Amino acid sequence: MKFKRVLLKLSGEALAGDEKFGIEPHTIQEICAEIAEVAKSGIQVALVIGGGNIFRGVSASSKGMDRASADYMGMLATVINALAVQDALEKAGVHTRVMTAITMREVAEPYIRRRAIRHLEKGRIVICAAGTGNPYFTTDTAAALRAMELKADAILKATKVDGVYDKDPLKYSDAKKFDSLTYIEVLQRRLKVMDSTAISMCMDNDLPIVVFNLFEKGNIFKVCKGDIVGTIVRG
Ligand code: UDP
Repeated sequence: MKFKRVLLKLSGEALAGDEKFGIEPHTIQEICAEIAEVAKSGIQVALVIGGGNIFRGVSASSKGMDRASADYMGMLATVINALAVQDALEKAGVHTRVMTAITMREVAEPYIRRRAIRHLEKGRIVICAAGTGNPYFTTDTAAALRAMELKADAILKATKVDGVYDKDPLKYSDAKKFDSLTYIEVLQRRLKVMDSTAISMCMDNDLPIVVFNLFEKGNIFKVCKGDIVGTIVRG
């Protein structure tokens, strides 16, 4: 295995399937069945879940809501998603722990780095919820932060397309896919991999990012094995 411990970033949108909003049961079951298989093979998996399928701080603040309050709502949305993912993963036969960056003891464990590492070592999937716990950040940045703290070998950024393109492949038929990119190229060309704060953190700490299609069966495992899947971003 090329990657023995990975941080998988799932956007909220991925959980909505063909819908624009909410959680689509069949989609979440499929995604979690695949993640469970990967964990059963011995790869240590930490997840960071987005919340865009329920609430996005920036969108609400553009309509007049206070940005910090809107962002806290966004962080709570990621907790809702995390509990849904936990349920689906456990039904697929793996042990999990949800750890939140905002304490809510009745719902989940607080995020404690050393405890999260211990869970991973015991083969439990750690689901990191509530982002970084701070407004004005995104779950992409949370993914970069947790990946570094938990000493993951890479961030696996799951998307609906099979890698990074020079323009939107869903809109332009002549869009060109990259097999690999440097962090600087991503920043300079403003490619939509992760937001710039997250990319800068990965660049400063030499953490590779693999962008790949979540909806092609077997992809997560292939990425961990070191097969060329999607686009790899590194120094
Ligand atoms: N958020 C935040 N701080 C964080 C992570 C997330 O304030 O550290 C809020 C922010 O409002 C964001 C929302 O939570 O819009 C949902 O996260 P995100 O948009 O990153 O989810 P995704 O696009 O991955 O579904």
